Amino acid sequence: MTMEQAAETDEKPGKTARCGASSPRPGPESGPESGPESGPNPHPAQKAARRAAANGATPMMAQYLEIKAAHEGCLLFYRMGDFYEMFFEDAVQAAAALDIALTKRGRHEGAEIPMCGVPVHAAEGYLSRLIRQGFKVAICEQVEDPAAARKRGAKAVVRREVIRLVTPGTITEDELLDSRAHNYLAALAEAGGSLALAWLDISTGSFHVQELTRGDLASLLARLQPGELLVSEKLYGEAALRRTLSEGAGALSPLPAARFDSGNARDRLQAAYGLASLDAFGQFIRAELAAAGALLDYVELTQKGRLPRLAPLSRQAPAATMEIDAATRRNLELTQTLGGARKGSLLGTIDRTLTGAGARLLATRLAAPLREVAAIEARLDSLSFLLDADDLRGDLRAGLRKLPEMERALSRLTLGRGGPRDLAAIRDGLGGAQTLRGLLSVCDGLPRDLAGIRDALAGDEDLVDELEEALAPDLPLLARDGGFIAKGFAPELDELRALRDESRRLIAGLQADYAKDTGIQTLKVRHNNVLGYFIEVSAVQAQKMPTGTESRYIHRQTLASAVRYTTSELADLEQKIVSAADKALAREQELYEVLVAAVLKSSERVAEAAHGLARLDVAAGLADLAASQSWCRPKLHDGAGFEIEEGRHPVVEAALEAEGQGAFVANSCSLGEKARIWLMTGPNMAGKSTFLRQNALIAILAQMGAFVPAKRAEIGLVDRCFSRVGAADDLARGRSTFMVEMVETAAILLRATERSLVILDEIGRGTATFDGLSIAWATIEYLHERNGCRALFATHYHELTSLAAKLPALSCHTMKVRDWKDDIIFLHEVAPGAADRSYGIHVAKIAGLPEEVIGRAEEILKLLEEGDQASALTRLADDLPLFAAMAEKPAPRGSAQGTEPSAVETRLAEIVPDELSPREALELLYELKALGKS
Ligand code: ATP
Repeated sequence: MTMEQAAETDEKPGKTARCGASSPRPGPESGPESGPESGPNPHPAQKAARRAAANGATPMMAQYLEIKAAHEGCLLFYRMGDFYEMFFEDAVQAAAALDIALTKRGRHEGAEIPMCGVPVHAAEGYLSRLIRQGFKVAICEQVEDPAAARKRGAKAVVRREVIRLVTPGTITEDELLDSRAHNYLAALAEAGGSLALAWLDISTGSFHVQELTRGDLASLLARLQPGELLVSEKLYGEAALRRTLSEGAGALSPLPAARFDSGNARDRLQAAYGLASLDAFGQFIRAELAAAGALLDYVELTQKGRLPRLAPLSRQAPAATMEIDAATRRNLELTQTLGGARKGSLLGTIDRTLTGAGARLLATRLAAPLREVAAIEARLDSLSFLLDADDLRGDLRAGLRKLPEMERALSRLTLGRGGPRDLAAIRDGLGGAQTLRGLLSVCDGLPRDLAGIRDALAGDEDLVDELEEALAPDLPLLARDGGFIAKGFAPELDELRALRDESRRLIAGLQADYAKDTGIQTLKVRHNNVLGYFIEVSAVQAQKMPTGTESRYIHRQTLASAVRYTTSELADLEQKIVSAADKALAREQELYEVLVAAVLKSSERVAEAAHGLARLDVAAGLADLAASQSWCRPKLHDGAGFEIEEGRHPVVEAALEAEGQGAFVANSCSLGEKARIWLMTGPNMAGKSTFLRQNALIAILAQMGAFVPAKRAEIGLVDRCFSRVGAADDLARGRSTFMVEMVETAAILLRATERSLVILDEIGRGTATFDGLSIAWATIEYLHERNGCRALFATHYHELTSLAAKLPALSCHTMKVRDWKDDIIFLHEVAPGAADRSYGIHVAKIAGLPEEVIGRAEEILKLLEEGDQASALTRLADDLPLFAAMAEKPAPRGSAQGTEPSAVETRLAEIVPDELSPREALELLYELKALGKS
């Protein structure tokens, strides 16, 4: 069978061969390009089709190649019957990515055509896997009935069109999205010497733009984590920028500079909003327009001309939110742990929201804490109110728990991709919003934010009534399946359905009639898609069937075990059923469109109610958290102080509680004019890192408008928060641990202001002792003298505590421990002063290092602590009891039996040459030479 023949049938190739080839993925940067309409010259797609036709390709192959050439960079899902098929390199790549069979179908230019396919009904699962792996997919549907195509000639191919491009930033299906996280499509543009980033969540319509510098970019991307980022080919050409962009976004899509034209962008934006001017949204600079316009252009391109409902374009002021760079977010594990999990992150710990939209809003707020006291207080007022009103909070949360996802349903309906269940989501969401509004309306003294939420929940009662009346109790996913309009809503639809059902009843009656007439009791009237309704009798009984020209029974088909007949009555009734069913379905489609139009007419109110519900969910969730965990309301001010009384680390506390490991020890922190920097010393495992982080987390929680885990918190607004805590190697970027540490420290020293909060944990530990100590020393001096920021600095270099004498705003603190018998007890308590030692060897013992090593380490430590380090080191090198102890064990292979191996021999025996880098080998040579001398 040729590919052409296969095209119009449902027949599936056998899934024979497993794909063995590991094919290269398309560069994530390859973007869907403009279609054939975009240029005066023949488009490559048309050229490809002409070439294919000239080379004797079948008409269907020519069609395939034309469509494929117009969508370079995308896998083409080519609809054939109940499957989406992929051919050529697409098939090879998709089969490998999806782990499905790769087969062959027909030939092209003398070679077999690789092919694989996925069933249409299960396509979303496959799509989601492909998108997650960085592919973009063009969905190509049959856009006419095969019967209509046949009318154009026996060889005519069914018309097909790409109806949508699915890219990581433009998905709307619930199955493809994380309901609790935003999925942003972002665009970066440069115009008039400025840079701007625009971002849009196509599934909810939230749309923002911000002017920024190259230095701000990494932080903003870390905050938004866009699924896809559009960038002009020119900017993409800048290596350093490309690196920042690819680290900050899921996929990069470079586009021609023409798509970022700010003049076109203004027109496009005005057209999208139906406005003659954008003044109502604010004044935008050219770069902002270019970025926002490029986004819309791309959405129209991928959605084939349709746009989702857009919230008004909101211009973000960089100074409105606390800056938190990517390293700090990672180190503080704000939205995910270092291992990538949500559970165990700050977000995972504070999230008590009950709806997807609430969870997304909470994540957005946590990612962008505010910097304006009034705005933070407004959020806190709502929390205080709900905290004091236990019953109301309980009722609100019980109502929220039942609510469906409205924002995304609305977006799907706007994009023409919705279904009856999306209408039901709007109905139930708005209905639920009204109930919650009722609860808020009877409350006196609602704070401003909650009153705003109450008003937003008004929604549209008429729309709810209409949808309630219109929709049936059980709804199909797709409108084209029909059966979703309730009985009684449309009399003409009920009539058509009655006709259809009556005919079905009549057919059932005919079966009894025919059985009596023929005397064949087992005669059945059945239905299939090929024959329609038919009479079926067993092959044995078939002899009893009256046949011949006079007979009412007309033979249709003989199978091995059965014979099938029809009658003119049956055919007539079937015709009636089909026509009534078709008409009913068509009427339902019309009603569906009317209902969708009604929703879209009210889309602003629906969106407002959906946002109101999300805000209410966040406020009630945070109030619930504060109530159950005894968190306090923070006081924010414009001063420079940072006073935390009995603060706790929310995540560590929750973990200790979950594991039944005892209570968390609360600690206070007071940074201000007199003591801007706290230098923390103390043993390993005593809780220094926990203390450092908890203070940064408390500042972030407070400024996002949440209560905080402390008895009292008074915080002078933080403009930027930095944290450098135990970095790991970044081998993928060719950076060692120490290099990462220095890059992050440099960022802090260059960007921290007087209003910033800096957390530095053990900087300098990744290099030689004196280098590390010197860097730590100079860093503290710089923070104290130049940056003037508030800082917590944890270190094992006890020498640094002598800086306190020199730097007036530096204060030394330590983690308390108690010696008990031969053991140490960590009290996890912060106290003024400096630690006398590190207890590192004690921790090593707990960790299970061999006794010999521990014993020897204790001796060495004693020697080193006794006095002059240089002479201690010479004595240590002279006296190597550990090697002596090892020598008493069986001699290493190769050494003469009975003779004690020398230090050089022992060292040599330990060496695995293959594991040494050239540098290590050189160092080893020096070491051996030194050992040889001793
Ligand atoms: P190192 O110097 O080795 O990095 P550290 O002093 O930074 O150690 P942390 O990592 O902060 O120590 O804490 C070690 C463990 O001690 C934590 O995982 C936690 O289980 C416990 N811990 C820390 N602080 C407290 C506290 N305030 N109350 C109770 N347990 C705590």
